[in-house]
Amino acid sequence: MKVLKFGGTSVGTPDNLRKVKDILAAGQPEKTVCVVSALGGVTNLLHACSDLAAVGDESYEASLAQIEARHLDTIKELIPVKSQSVIFSKIRILLNDLEDIMKGIYLIRELSPKTLDKVLSFGEILSSNIIVDFLNAEGLKTDLGDSRVLIKTDNIHNNANVDFASTNKNITDYIPTAANLVVCPGFVSSNAEGVTTTLGRGGSDYTAAIFAAALDADSFEIWTDVSGMMTSDPRQVAAAHPIEKLSFQEALELSHFGAKVIYPPTIQPVLDKKIPIKIKNTFAPEDAGTTICEDANGDKQFVKGLSSVSDIALLNLTGSGMVGVPKFSFRLFKALSEAKVNVIIITQASSEHSICVGIDKKDIEISQAAIAEEFQLELSLRKIDPLEVETGMAIVALVGDKMREHVGIGGQMFSALGENGISIKAIAQGSSERNITVVLEEKHLSKALNVLHESFFLSQRKRMNLFMIGIGNVGGTFIEQIKKQYNYLDEFENVDLRIVGIANSRQMLFDIDGIDLADWKGQLESKGEKMAPQVFVDKMVESNLRNSIFVDNTANAEIAGLYEGILRKSISVVTPNKIACASDYDTYVNLKSTAREYQAKFYYETNVGAGLPVLTTLGDLIKSGDKIQKIQAVLSGSLNFIFNSFKPGVKFVDVVKQAGVEGYTEPDPKIDLSGVDVMRKILILIRESGLKFELDDIVSESFIPAACMDTKTNDEFYASLEQHDEVFQKLVSDAEAKNCRLKVVATFDKGKASVGLQEIPKDHPFYILEGKDNIVLFYTNRYQDQPLVIKGAGAGAEVTASGIFADVMRIANS
Ligand code: ADP
Ligand code: ASP
Ligand code: MG
Repeated sequence: MKVLKFGGTSVGTPDNLRKVKDILAAGQPEKTVCVVSALGGVTNLLHACSDLAAVGDESYEASLAQIEARHLDTIKELIPVKSQSVIFSKIRILLNDLEDIMKGIYLIRELSPKTLDKVLSFGEILSSNIIVDFLNAEGLKTDLGDSRVLIKTDNIHNNANVDFASTNKNITDYIPTAANLVVCPGFVSSNAEGVTTTLGRGGSDYTAAIFAAALDADSFEIWTDVSGMMTSDPRQVAAAHPIEKLSFQEALELSHFGAKVIYPPTIQPVLDKKIPIKIKNTFAPEDAGTTICEDANGDKQFVKGLSSVSDIALLNLTGSGMVGVPKFSFRLFKALSEAKVNVIIITQASSEHSICVGIDKKDIEISQAAIAEEFQLELSLRKIDPLEVETGMAIVALVGDKMREHVGIGGQMFSALGENGISIKAIAQGSSERNITVVLEEKHLSKALNVLHESFFLSQRKRMNLFMIGIGNVGGTFIEQIKKQYNYLDEFENVDLRIVGIANSRQMLFDIDGIDLADWKGQLESKGEKMAPQVFVDKMVESNLRNSIFVDNTANAEIAGLYEGILRKSISVVTPNKIACASDYDTYVNLKSTAREYQAKFYYETNVGAGLPVLTTLGDLIKSGDKIQKIQAVLSGSLNFIFNSFKPGVKFVDVVKQAGVEGYTEPDPKIDLSGVDVMRKILILIRESGLKFELDDIVSESFIPAACMDTKTNDEFYASLEQHDEVFQKLVSDAEAKNCRLKVVATFDKGKASVGLQEIPKDHPFYILEGKDNIVLFYTNRYQDQPLVIKGAGAGAEVTASGIFADVMRIANS
């Protein structure tokens, strides 16, 4: 004996119904009960239509016509013309009844729960009649079992309670007398007087479970439009995937907290009989689907799924006098229960000074009234404060039988949410420890589900969302690197790296699904909007995407000024822009502590030595307890390039211009040549060593004549360098005469720092520093005699971009 249930989408169109027929035919000749829903969307249409009629809106007639056409068209498409007449007349009679009832509602302007049940029952009655005739026409001998007669309930309309004694008897009496294949409408039932009742929205699943349990079915299958119960709602989490096996309790918790694929009461009847439930996909019958059974936890996955409920309101009852109020919780729940309010979660602080319950927002008013009445006396005596109501909330539940065997799941959940700036309003853990439930603001729901899904289903990809300002030399190269590396990261690192926002100084462009990198420049030009940095940040914050990273590839002070606000939104910042870390010490420290406080990352490895791992190495030394004694470094790739290329007979200005063309200088070459760039770098190294230091504390001897430095534009600067060329020629010839090379060296020793041009003799490690290379020597307590040396290309778009890339990946992997 088999019981199958097909949901609304499965029976929604003639094509889909043919798939249902194939599935049923494949199961023959086993005795089969097939429970069917209304044609997809029809229950909602019936509801909307009767609501219109009840307020006297004549347009109910148009909705009704739509419902009629839907059924008549299905017959025309599905059943051969020669067999159509019988079913047409049956359906016409039903539709006429429906029309009369609607007319009645329209005339009386009243829609009682009893009438609503009658109206909604037409969905399943119509669909089951059509399906039976279709199956018979296709040669499958099928009977129609009337669930209204078989399933008996109490008088609670719209959500009736089943009388199992009479129902089970009716089913076990009837089914053996019927054909091998019996189609029964889901959702509908009747009370002792034979008045139609329904089992609640989504109730066809329950109908099928009632049949399966009554008949001790060998197998019970729910056929729907997804390949099983998924790790999360697939409409919210694109990476959700079907769960192979679930225990009855896990399925119960997931469905209670919103996994719509199964109606929660469904599980109880089959749980008592331990009949496994299979969830299968009508449109992909070969997919394994999900099995819900008793022993489902042989595998290692301890978090099985995530589910959520929206439209939640939190009721907070507080008061200093609460401790002494007798039976306080009891009275609260009694009041809510008598008002028929479903309490979805409860949390209570151990101080007992407050209690907080989560309810559906539609129940706010009746709850307020019920509580006000119950605690009238205490409220008037101010033992209890007036009820606080918070709306716009959602519940997210993490479910798994084996969660109790693992410590730290709550911590992982809270930190994943915290790192994404999502605050938790209330927490509840079921005493079974099978679920951990949090309440958060509904506006964060989709982000929260995705963040948690990535955190607990590790095999899944992690989506990173980059927002990037500055797409010139370095930024443009970075984008090209991402483009080349995207597939590799996706396949081997499980990181889905998307650029969601880009901007230059004129235009900005956003696409929350990720900008198509094939033609990002063209799109920025054609589709971009006018750039305004604060607007860019606002849009980034509003889009509220998980794992967002702000990448600043500019050298701009205004953009650096935005970091604090960004970090406060728990968005990480990655930048080669040195301005923030090299401005006053308080700003630097404040940014680092803001990042820590808001659980965001602030990474700027490329501030010193481009892609060389200078800051991470220094950070590792300090964290492991080492102390810096001395730093000696050539930190300017541009100056090194310039002095390596500058030979007697060549004009200094031409070398400077060449460095610019190759992308080795800052946009303003004076920043490099004045030594300011090097000062900023040594300052950052000193600060990262753990010392309080300011730019003014660094002694700098410039080799550039003051007149050159006083120029305004790059062109004026170049002209002035040309005028003063003999100064530079003298520097180089003096050095050559002593067999030395010129290097701009930054030194930090005994608490003092300086930057200046030095003549480096042949035996010094700085002498053979090629091209645009940097070198840093760290003398520390552990590296006393032989310094720790980091050397390599220290400027250039490729290496800088790859350093930014490394920072981004460090965040992705954290
Ligand atoms: P039916 O009409 O077949 O009863 P429903 O629409 O009631 O189907 O339920 C199936 C839908 O439930 C899916 O299409 C999916 O969008 C939604 N859903 C929500 N949460 C989950 C989940 N965790 N797993 C699978 N589906 C889910
Ligand atoms: N047709 C009903 C509803 O849409 C019952 C069901 O499909 O499960 O709620
Ligand atoms: Mg359903």
